[in-house]
Amino acid sequence: MGLYSFIAIVLMLSTLSECQSNRVQKNENEVIMQTEYKHENMDTIIPDKLNIAFILGKFDPTQTNGFTQIDQKYADRAGLWLNIEAYEAFIRMWEAAQKDNIDLIIRSATRNFDYQKGIWERKWMGETTLSSGVNLGNSKYSDLEKAKMILEYSAMPGTSRHHWGTDIDLNAFENDWFEKGEGLRVYYWLENHAHEFGFCRPYTSKINGRTGYNEEKWHWSYMPLSKGYLLFASQHMSDADIQGFLGSKTADDLQVVKNYVLGVEGCGK
Ligand SMILES: [Zn+2]
Repeated sequence: MGLYSFIAIVLMLSTLSECQSNRVQKNENEVIMQTEYKHENMDTIIPDKLNIAFILGKFDPTQTNGFTQIDQKYADRAGLWLNIEAYEAFIRMWEAAQKDNIDLIIRSATRNFDYQKGIWERKWMGETTLSSGVNLGNSKYSDLEKAKMILEYSAMPGTSRHHWGTDIDLNAFENDWFEKGEGLRVYYWLENHAHEFGFCRPYTSKINGRTGYNEEKWHWSYMPLSKGYLLFASQHMSDADIQGFLGSKTADDLQVVKNYVLGVEGCGK
């Protein structure tokens, strides 16, 4: 047995409990289904071609083996891409949700380095206002302060889990939306069932001291793959790899790999 196969099996065996640990605890009166998730193709957890350029999102998903375009019936627009295995798992989840009258809509999927660089630099230059209402154009803030404010919700190019093709944003980009009415139904369904399909939520509440991005009730990760990518990042990625965009020099001071890439709860951490 090769080293990677061994690592893959170890990862596989620890997948279930960690994904389940992410389930919501609030609705204690509900019976929670405990369905085991089994990974069918363990070799894909750590692909042979896994390398730092891939982890940094420096590739074009439309030209990369293993990626596929998402059918528009599952998304809010055409032209979104995902890792094929993550996509197939999502379709199974989507169909199960439909049976429970829950509509899952992909709002964002794979975003490579160049795409994330566009998001980041538009905020950096003030072309886009931050969700807090702050505009960083002609601002009084230091580079470090600017980077910290953008990082509340947007990843630094090179550090986004969306680079990997395993992570999706569902239905709405506001936590508020998931706290009442239809959004709350979607939230409960996902918290109780997403793990059955291999999905977990990496950006949980920070009350337990998690570092990194604020809570995102919309962001879900296909852990059988992303867990391996996170492990690879923890072993091979450093802040020095983060470069090539406005403000990238702050990566070192902010220790973005430690605090943001690895700042997740459950989901393989
Ligand atoms: Zn996201």
